[in-house]
Amino acid sequence: QSIVYWMRMGDLRISDNKALALASAQAVEDQVPLVVLHVLSPQDYIAHDRSKTRIDFVLRNLSRVKDELARLNIPLYTITHTPRKSVPTRVISVLQTLQSTRLFANFEYEVDELRRDTEVCSLAQNAGIRPTYVHDRCIIEPGVVKTKDGRTYTVYSPYQRNWISILNSNLSDYLKESPSPTSNPSTIREDHVFGPLFEVDVPVSVHGFELDPEEAANMANIWPAGTSYAKEMLSRFLYTKARATQLGAVDPLADGAEDSDKSSRVLLYDEARDRGDKDTTSRLSPYLSAGVISVRECVRQTMKLLRIQKVEAGRSSGVGRWVQELAWRDFYTNVLAYYPRVSMGRPFQERFADVKWEVNEEHLKAWKEGKTGIPIVDAAMRQINTMGWTHNRMRMIVAMFLSKDLMLDWRLGERYFMEKLIDGDLASNNGGWQWSASTGVDPAPYFRIFNPYTQSSKADPTGDFIRTFVPELKSLYGSDIHNPPAKVADKLGYPKPIVNHAEARVRAIRRYKTPGEE
Ligand code: FAD
Repeated sequence: QSIVYWMRMGDLRISDNKALALASAQAVEDQVPLVVLHVLSPQDYIAHDRSKTRIDFVLRNLSRVKDELARLNIPLYTITHTPRKSVPTRVISVLQTLQSTRLFANFEYEVDELRRDTEVCSLAQNAGIRPTYVHDRCIIEPGVVKTKDGRTYTVYSPYQRNWISILNSNLSDYLKESPSPTSNPSTIREDHVFGPLFEVDVPVSVHGFELDPEEAANMANIWPAGTSYAKEMLSRFLYTKARATQLGAVDPLADGAEDSDKSSRVLLYDEARDRGDKDTTSRLSPYLSAGVISVRECVRQTMKLLRIQKVEAGRSSGVGRWVQELAWRDFYTNVLAYYPRVSMGRPFQERFADVKWEVNEEHLKAWKEGKTGIPIVDAAMRQINTMGWTHNRMRMIVAMFLSKDLMLDWRLGERYFMEKLIDGDLASNNGGWQWSASTGVDPAPYFRIFNPYTQSSKADPTGDFIRTFVPELKSLYGSDIHNPPAKVADKLGYPKPIVNHAEARVRAIRRYKTPGEE
């Protein structure tokens, strides 16, 4: 007999993991071993435009998880399964082989995953297996933060106010840390059923999602795997020696850890977060999207280090602002759970379903490759292509540029992001794209179109960001770096802008004003 915890691609950690903790408690109570199962489903990755970097990140983290679990005598059993439609049958059959009568998992809110889990439930019932699904991804799970008349919020500000008040009224429950799993008896390694599971290695790649060796090494260097590294990233973001001393708080980077930056990212976050030329944000999104660190841990540590008793409502401090960014993640997950049409390629605002888009492969290619002739757009796209990540402001600039300046369908950009980002997350990506394309919940009004040159001088005032990712322009400074004069650009081998912003702006406003018309 056994208890199985099904670890999904969004909860790759053993600490503070709700379903894993429950499964472990049940295994202890029933005095049977705990087995962790992970299913690699390449057809799902194709259907959901998963990036190679994300799949590589999943495998690298799984490998860490396997080692950590092995120290507790808990096997991680990884299987690769196609076709995706029969994943439920395969999972039930694995459970039957392992003589398991209980299955534990954290909810996945995407529509295909919910359908899959519903099928698992009905198959489980027939097989005499009891499934338990719990909420783990968000700080406050979907469905809790509602309007007075019980409806789902579609505007962020009131959602956020209510989110903060619900969180503060029950902080200890929402931020509670789930216990780490208890060790299995050591005999399980010799057992004829469970022993061999320890021998099943996590694959190094999934067919069709292999990175070339150079890219793999680059990714492992920029985004190392493991919860302990994610915790270091969090400490780096929260670190402030001066502030820590002033508050008498524990210095999270003590014990000789590298003291590379004495300024506090979190305290300066409100003013500095949009600066692409500085390393000002947490860079935790890959770790949060893959669940390598728990989002509750992020809030707990922020409050602990800075000795905060309540989450702040105002935007006056970086801390309040940072926790509010985490609330955006909850907000978009809530939208995804309540309006599944957003994950089926539909605009949230149906009135924009017929906006007329351009069909222009050359423009799309130039955007993807970072060769549009608009330096800030090109720098951001090249950062995405090399790191699988860019700042929020840069994502907004390139998304607005694709959907308004190039007038290309935002879904093409949404897909490209998923294919490239290491932190690709359907809810946040769709939310960000529909915000930028003015089709989503609480979006940017369609007539308020970013001027990429003005955005560039605000988000990259030093020009360092552009110079890093667009080396052709590394000799330029001042206003030239944001908008190189034609002759200079030509000399440096940099393309001319593929679109005139002022003209494109007029076209976009016209098309949005009268959807369906030219
Ligand atoms: P920080 O500024 O340190 O914020 C901390 C965390 O809060 C982030 O890691 C993230 O989990 C969350 N967060 C911050 N801003 C947002 C936001 N606007 N929406 C939702 N969550 C947020 N984020 C993803 O995780 N995956 C995506 O696929 C994704 N696609 C995006 C596409 C577009 C067009 C836009 C405009 C935004 C997208 N975002 C996405 C949101 C945001 O850009 C990233 O979460 C952020 O840039 C990650 O950097 P960070 O970890 O340093 O963030």
